[in-house]
Amino acid sequence: SEELKMAIGAMQLSDKTVRDVMTKINDVFMLSDAKVLNTRTVAEILKKGFTRIPVYSGERNNIVAMLNVKDLALLDPDDNFTVSTVCRYNEHPVRFVMDETPLRMMLEEFKKGAYHLAMVQRLAESTEGDPHYQLTGVVTLEDILEEILQAEIMDE
Ligand code: ADP
Repeated sequence: SEELKMAIGAMQLSDKTVRDVMTKINDVFMLSDAKVLNTRTVAEILKKGFTRIPVYSGERNNIVAMLNVKDLALLDPDDNFTVSTVCRYNEHPVRFVMDETPLRMMLEEFKKGAYHLAMVQRLAESTEGDPHYQLTGVVTLEDILEEILQAEIMDE
């Protein structure tokens, strides 16, 4: 049955981690917090088609906020607000997960419904030897469902 296949797919999640299904950092569409939101830049953002957009300050490894495209709906482009201003007004929390997080655990977390996108990070060592977090991608519920469906197809 379909349900059984789904269950099998879900079981095959067990040995996979967030890293296996995430969108890699170089492919993630982000915005600088300093970016000015005018008619042109808002159109560019909408054209990308993403619902949630990580916002960085200075460098891409430094995520400070999350922008939802819906936040742009009531924006007056003539105000020339920055991304930073719009984010301060809407305040969507930024969630981080380690890249070794098991998919099953991530799925349970998303099912709770508090958030739908997590920033993926790994522990890296700098040249001086001190550990720091390095951003490696983003993961959403969509990525996990895709993995379950693929497991199903392979099973047929
Ligand atoms: P959306 O609603 O924006 O389409 P989904 O949660 O449906 O996002 O995810 C669809 C795919 O897009 C997933 O592979 C996810 O990792 C990826 N994704 C989501 N947001 C971004 C983003 N800002 N930049 C790049 N990829 C993203």
